Amino acid sequence: MVNIHQKIRKLKEYAKDNNVPIMVDQGIDFLTTFVIKYKPETVLEIGTAIGYSAIMMALSNPNLKIVSIERDEERYLEAVKNVKEFELEDRITLLFKDALEVNLEEKFDLIFIDAAKGQNINFFNHFEKNLNEDGHIITDNMYFHGYVLKEEHEIKNRNLRGLVKKIKAYHTFLKENPRYETEIFEIGDGIAVTKKR
Ligand code: SAM
Repeated sequence: MVNIHQKIRKLKEYAKDNNVPIMVDQGIDFLTTFVIKYKPETVLEIGTAIGYSAIMMALSNPNLKIVSIERDEERYLEAVKNVKEFELEDRITLLFKDALEVNLEEKFDLIFIDAAKGQNINFFNHFEKNLNEDGHIITDNMYFHGYVLKEEHEIKNRNLRGLVKKIKAYHTFLKENPRYETEIFEIGDGIAVTKKR
């Protein structure tokens, strides 16, 4: 019989073999510790990929229900398969759509932003209405493989430079936001935890 650790290892191997970006180990440890500590009951995830982070959160907290959005069909279908494999269909709802076209009424205790990195401000603005009063927004890849800490002229690739500029703008957006306070942790690829003031 395949145990849960073997199943998780299989997910990570699939991601590696198929170049699917998933959270690094330090980041996933932070996220799962967060859901154990703060006990959110509802999570909205932007960027499912193959379901790895959603599954890890659900396994860490038996009361957690997750809605997760993915716009890539192949990844979405893989996530559907994986959620079934872990028997988490009753707690993880997967939506196949561009997140910015999804309009939800319900509110969540945690919103986890882990999709197109240049769009973080748009995701934040689009979904902040869905955050519970004392909820948190977590954003991954705040340092984007260390590039965010470099000077602009040190980044030779033009597209990468543009992306890094947008992530830096998101740093400023969070820092100067009068309604939210944010702490950025130097964990994994850089994780921002944002809360209403
Ligand atoms: N959270 C996943 C994990 O750690 O297991 C990893 C997510 S991966 C870094 C980002 C995913 O977001 C990609 O699969 C990409 O297709 C998806 N994505 C990017 N922009 C999106 C959008 N606007 N709406 C929905 N999904 C999006």
